[in-house]
Parts: sequence; structure tokens; C-alpha cells
Amino acid sequence: MRILVQKFGGTSLSTSEARQFVLRHIRRERQRQYKLVVVVSAMGRSGDPYATDTLLSLIPGTGDSLPSRERDLLLGCGEIISAVMLCGLLQAASIPAVALTGGEAGIMTDNQFGRARILEIRTETVLRHLHEDKVVIVTGFQGKTESGQLTTLGRGGSDTSATALGAALHAEQVDIYTDVNGILTADPRIVADARPLSVVGYAEICNMARLGAKVIHPRAVEIAQQAKIPLRVRSTFSEDEGTLVTDAIDAVHAAAVRDRHVTGVAHVNGITQITVHAQEGHTDVQLQVFQAMARHHISVDFINVTPGGAVYTVFDHDASEAVSVLQRIGYTPIAVNGCAKISVIGGGMNGVPGIMARIVEALTEQSIPILQSADSNTTIWVLVKESYMADALRALHAKFALHER
Ligand code: ADP
Ligand code: ASP
Ligand code: MG
Repeated sequence: MRILVQKFGGTSLSTSEARQFVLRHIRRERQRQYKLVVVVSAMGRSGDPYATDTLLSLIPGTGDSLPSRERDLLLGCGEIISAVMLCGLLQAASIPAVALTGGEAGIMTDNQFGRARILEIRTETVLRHLHEDKVVIVTGFQGKTESGQLTTLGRGGSDTSATALGAALHAEQVDIYTDVNGILTADPRIVADARPLSVVGYAEICNMARLGAKVIHPRAVEIAQQAKIPLRVRSTFSEDEGTLVTDAIDAVHAAAVRDRHVTGVAHVNGITQITVHAQEGHTDVQLQVFQAMARHHISVDFINVTPGGAVYTVFDHDASEAVSVLQRIGYTPIAVNGCAKISVIGGGMNGVPGIMARIVEALTEQSIPILQSADSNTTIWVLVKESYMADALRALHAKFALHER
């Protein structure tokens, strides 16, 4: 049996016109003799009637006042509505279909409500329906615990449902359909001339996703990589091929991949930079600071340690707690909030001279102050004020000519 998993994101299902495109992709792949598992997200985006954020807004404090189990029950509704709606559409088009919740599709998770991990997928039910030649529609973003409670996998988790099902079912490929033409060199909402990448490796995309490129969930990419399943990210609204994510890169594509020092740029907003100076005579500032952050479960990033102190970042929502923890142990931290972490991501920038120089050049030309920087063999990060984020991304995108090729 040749199995294909197709995942349709929220905007792909939000209007009846959009759903006609979805129907077209399903028909085309059935004609190619694939057995289809179709994973769906909740319809639309914040403000649309059944979108995940809209469901959360039904509860005071956007769902925070609910116990986590009940919050997951509410969150799960969006995908259920979507799956049933698509099932009706397929039946009306004489395409046999069944809609299953994550739990009914055998997606078994631990009991960490709101960020559950998939433990196992019991594929019998899905396989039985596929053998009966039905399109099996599965609600994304959810599973169930051994005791039958509905869990959700964390925001953006429908991508993870899709690749996990693909891995468990030994699918030939997982196609992620969304509202853009693949994985682009930058978020097209910010950089207008961002260009789709035709083929990329899993590690690069996983890195890009972790660093803020929201087009695909990093966990979904990890699962596809482990299972060695090719992943295609493409637009629902066209027949373009989008981006193929694979490590089996053929000779034609290999040249393009080798040639590329910088693959793309991404950003994360909502970051606070904290600077702590050592008090006179104190030599254990770093130890004290980072032990205190760990004790309070505050996640830290962008760490620079010097003999005179430490500079690091936390999320804005943790900043006031971080500052008061430091004050309680006798420090006078300086906190700069509203920063953005900009990442220049590459596959092959290791040992390539001049990349940092070009980054500094691009930002200096726009008079954008760099608050901090760090690098690894695949990425260079710079911290800037959020108000400069968009200009910084555009300047870096232009400096590395990412709109070309
Ligand atoms: P879906 O509902 O289909 O899962 P998402 O909103 O999760 O859609 O992801 C698609 C969005 O990701 C795009 O509309 C785009 O604005 C954003 N995005 C951010 N970075 C990138 C990138 N590098 N390439 C493509 N899209 C990106
Ligand atoms: N609907 C969920 C969310 O908005 C899951 C997803 O879209 O992947 O986070
Ligand atoms: Mg998404």
C-alpha cells in the first residue's frame, strides 16, 4: 500500500474557496493511487469562528483560568470541527472518507496536557480504513492518554501529528499544505522578496524552525528526519512543488546546497537582555546567577560570560521574575526588554570568512545597534531592539542576496 500523508493548515480550510483547493489536492493524489491520511488543523486564524485562539478567547484570561485537562478539551474542538467538515465535503464529492480524532487514530501520548509527547501510534484503525479505500481524516494537534483523556501537542502541533503518522504508517512522503509557496528564505510577511527554497536538509530546517520560522514545527521535522521520510512544504493554493526537505539530495540539487552559505533569516520577538556585573571581591557571579535562574525554572539563552559578570537573555514574560530573583541575591541587574533575536542560518558557513563582517555591515548601514551576538557553525545570532527587527531582516536578506537564485 502506497500511503501519503497530507496536512492542511488553518488558512487552507477557512473558506469554501480554499476547501475547493484542498479537494483538488486530495483528488489528484487519489488518482495517483495513493492511500491518503489527511491531517487537519483548526479552521482559520485568530478571530475566525473555530480557530484555536478564538476558542481560547471564550474563557476569561484566554483559557489560563482553566485546569490544563479542560483547556485541552476546549483546544481539541477546533480540529474536530475541521475534520468533520472536510469529511462532509468529501462525502458530498463521492469520495469515501472517515473522520477520526487523534485518539481514535491511535495517537497515544503522555499526560502533559498542553504539551504532550507522542509515545506510540497504534495504526490498526487507520490501516483498516485505508484498506477499505477511505480517505482517513485525522484531527491534528491531539492525542489521548492511556486512560483516554484528550491531550494536545503544543501550538503548531498538527505538523507533528502529520509526520508522526507518516512515520508510523511508513508513508512514502508527508505533504504540509499551507498559505505560502514552501519554506522561504525569510517570513514573506516581513521580507517581501523572500524566495522559496527548492530543497533543504532536515537539520537546516529544524534549526530555522527553532529560531522562529513558524512555517513548520521543529518537532515535526525531527520526526521526519528520524524516520527518513521526505517532507514537502507547499501551498494549498497552487500546484507549485514548494520545498522538499530531505537528506537524500540528488546531484542536481547538491550543487545548489553546497554553494549556499546562508539559507535564510528568522527572528524571535519578546526577548529581554539582562546584564549582571560582579560585585567587588565576588568571583562566583556566573554560578550564582545561573543557579538562581535554574532554581526558578527561567530558561536562559544567548549567554556571554566574562570575568566581570554575565550577559544573557530571557523571554519578556520571565523578565520581571528574573530581575527580582537577582535582586534578592544582591545584584543590580540591567534589563533591556522588547528585543528580537535575529538569526542568519546556513548549512555551510563554518570556516567561511567574512560572514560576520557582512552582518555587521548590513546592520551598520541601516544604523541598527547590535546589542549582542553569538555564533555556531551553522548560525549567527544578533540581538536588536524589536523596533529594528523588520529592517534588520530586510537588510540581512539583501546583503546575502537571498532573493536571487
Ligand atoms: P498553517 O496554518 O498552514 O500551519 P502557519 O501560520 O503555521 O500556517 O505557517 C505559515 C506561515 O509561516 C506563513 O504564512 C508565513 O507568514 C510564516 N513564515 C514564517 N517564516 C517563514 C519562512 N521562512 N518561510 C515560509 N513561511 C514563513
Ligand atoms: N490549531 C493548533 C494551533 O493553532 C495546531 C496547529 O494549527 O498546528 O496551534
Ligand atoms: Mg502551522
